[in-house]
Amino acid sequence: MKVLFIAAEASPWVKVGGLADVVGELPRYLRSLEVEVRVALPYYPTERQRDSAGSALGEFNFGGTKVTVFPLKNGNLDTLFIGGDMQSRHQTVYGELVEDTDRFTKFSLAAMQMCQVLDWQPDLLHAHDWHTAPAVVWLKGMRLRSPFWQDTKSLLTIHNLPYMGGELSADWDFHKVSDSDHRLPRWAMRKPLPLGITSADWLSTVSPTYAQEIQTPEFGKGLEGVLQQRAHRLRGILNGIDYQNWDPGADPALPYAFDRNTLPAREQNGRLLREELGLGGDPEGPMIGMITRLDYQKGVDVGLDALSTLAGEPWEFVLLGTGDPAITHKAGDFSNRYSERVRFVNGFDHNLARRIYGGSDILLIPSRYEPCGLSQMIGMRYGSVPLARSTGGLRDTVYDVEARGRGNGFLFDEPTTTAAANAIRRAFAVYRDENKWLDIQQNGMAMDFSWNQSASKYLALYEQIVQASQYD
Ligand code: ADP
Repeated sequence: MKVLFIAAEASPWVKVGGLADVVGELPRYLRSLEVEVRVALPYYPTERQRDSAGSALGEFNFGGTKVTVFPLKNGNLDTLFIGGDMQSRHQTVYGELVEDTDRFTKFSLAAMQMCQVLDWQPDLLHAHDWHTAPAVVWLKGMRLRSPFWQDTKSLLTIHNLPYMGGELSADWDFHKVSDSDHRLPRWAMRKPLPLGITSADWLSTVSPTYAQEIQTPEFGKGLEGVLQQRAHRLRGILNGIDYQNWDPGADPALPYAFDRNTLPAREQNGRLLREELGLGGDPEGPMIGMITRLDYQKGVDVGLDALSTLAGEPWEFVLLGTGDPAITHKAGDFSNRYSERVRFVNGFDHNLARRIYGGSDILLIPSRYEPCGLSQMIGMRYGSVPLARSTGGLRDTVYDVEARGRGNGFLFDEPTTTAAANAIRRAFAVYRDENKWLDIQQNGMAMDFSWNQSASKYLALYEQIVQASQYD
C-alpha cells in the first residue's frame, strides 16, 4: 500500500507541537508494517533541513511557480521537501493567518502535483489538520477528472479542531465541489478544515474520546452537526510516544536512571530538581510539575487557582511553559506570591522538561480540551502520576485510582477550581501512603503507549478505507 502523508510539521525537522511527533514517528512504524509511506513537508529555511537536504529529485511548474523537490532519507523513511521558488521565506513555521492559508494551500496542491511528476500513485492521501486539508478537497474534485487520481482515497486527521485556517481567497477555485456542500454552516464554507471535513473519505482524531466530543456543542466549535453526519466515517486513534526517546532508564538528561523496579532511585532526581530550582518548601510534601504551552486550552489558570485554595498543604510546584502573555503574567504573579515553593520557568527547555518528568511526583494537566495529549503518557513512563481533567485523550489514558483497580492517576470532570482542588486533595491523601503511591506509579509505568499499538490501528483503518468503494 502506498500512502502519502502531507503535513506542516514533522519531527525531527520542524517541530512546533504534538503534530510534529505524530507525522515524524507514525510513518516510521508504518514503514516497518510494509506500508510504502512518503512524507511531504514544506521546505522551511531551517538550519537542520538546509544542512541535510540532498540534490533535487524533481522540478516542475505549479501555477507559474518553479517547484523543486528535495528528498531526504531518515532511517527507512523518505521525506520530500517542497521547495524551489515556492520555498517559504518564513523563518517560523506559522505566521499571519491569511498568508499562512495561501502558503499552505499552495504547498498542499503542489505536493499532489509532485506525485504526478514522480509518477507515484498513492492509494491513500493522509492529510493532517487545516494546513493540508486543501489537498483532500482538491482530490475529491480531481478524482472525477483524472485517471491518475481516480483510485486514491483520503483520510484527514484532526489534531486540533478549533484551528480551521483562514478563508480561502477568491483566486482558488478547487473547492467548488464542496463549496456547494450545504452541510457546512455559512461561516465555514471557505475554510480549509471544514471543507476537508466534508470532502475526506474518512476522518480521524487523535483519541477515541475526542472523536466523540467534537460531535457535541461544547467541543464541536459549530461543526458538531457536520461531524455527527459523518460519524460513521470518523475514528479516534490514540497517538503513541517513542519509547526509545522517552526512556527513564537511559535518559542522559536525568541524573539518576531508573525503571519500574528501581523506583527508589527516582527520589534522587526529585531532590536534585528541587535543588536546581532552589525550592525551599517542605521536602516531605509532593512536588507537582506542569509542562505545557501557556494557552487557554491547557487550563493553567484552573491549576494555579486550585493550588491557591490548598495553600495550607505542603506541596511544591514547578511550571515550565511559554505562550500567551496574560497566562505568563498570571503564572509570574503566582510564583511571586508563593516564592518559597513555586518556580515558573518561562521558556522551552527539553532537558528541564525531562528532569521534571523524572523528578516530580504529580503531573498537573487541567486541560479544557485535549485531543490526545502526550505529557500524561510521558509522565507515566517517567513515574510522575498524572492528575488531569477527564477529557479527550486524557480520559482514554489516565485511569482514576478510585474508579479502577489498576489506577494510574487522578481525574476530575469539570475544568473548575473546585473540581481540580478536590482531585489534588485526594492525590495528597494517597501520596502519604508510600506503598499505594508506588503501586500507582508502577501501574503508569506498565502502560503501553508505544507507536506499535497506534500504527497497527492506522494500518487496519487504511486497509478498510482503501478496500471500500468510494460510494459506500
Ligand atoms: P500540545 O501538542 O497541545 O502542545 P501535548 O501534551 O500533546 O500538547 O505535547 C506537548 C509536548 O511538548 C510534550 O512533549 C511536552 O513535554 C512538550 N512541551 C510543552 N511545553 C514545553 C516547554 N516549555 N519546554 C519543553 N517541552 C515542552
